[in-house]
Amino acid sequence: MEQLKQRILEEASILSTDVLKLDRLLNHQVDPELTMEMGREFARRFEGEGITKVITIESSGIPIAFATALTLGVPLVFARRKKTLLAEPDAYSERVPSFTKGIVTDLMVSRQLLSPDDVLLYIDDIIANGDAAKGLIRIIERSGAKLAGLGIAVEKTFQPGGRLIREQGIRVESLVRIASLADGKIAFE
Ligand code: 5GP
Repeated sequence: MEQLKQRILEEASILSTDVLKLDRLLNHQVDPELTMEMGREFARRFEGEGITKVITIESSGIPIAFATALTLGVPLVFARRKKTLLAEPDAYSERVPSFTKGIVTDLMVSRQLLSPDDVLLYIDDIIANGDAAKGLIRIIERSGAKLAGLGIAVEKTFQPGGRLIREQGIRVESLVRIASLADGKIAFE
């Protein structure tokens, strides 16, 4: 998505060879028009898949997932991230490491919000190692719902997340693919 690439070049900064700071676009501030454009693009790519719900993980996935759900005319479910040792009997939960925070958190989704009749589109902001995505995919599998695929705004292809999920036979669509952050430069694929 050319518009998103351009905005990343103008507004992102490189924190390290692994991490891109996207606070002005995805993680701290949101541009509603650009976010709606991303939502419309995901809705277009997954048109005809019979999506019944969009699903994401709080918090940075929510705006893009909302834009996608609004365009498709379906509800949005967001997995909560909790730091708790208490299992909730009414929720699916999966423990996942957090790429940016260096801690583990539990993803939780109420059992009442997912059913085997659902066809889900999973939308997220950034994929790195894919730990968060793999956790949510395990929850989706346990619920019996069908996963139509993943829509990711920014895929860092020098990290393995997107590839590992495609290797599971799951469709992954990314709007922008970043091949490297080396030498202080953002290199798109
Ligand atoms: P993963 O579980 O795929 O390793 O990491 C996914 C999550 O970590 C993303 O949803 C995002 O919030 C955060 N993350 C991973 N890489 C980056 C990055 O380069 N920049 C920012 N801002 N967040 C990242």
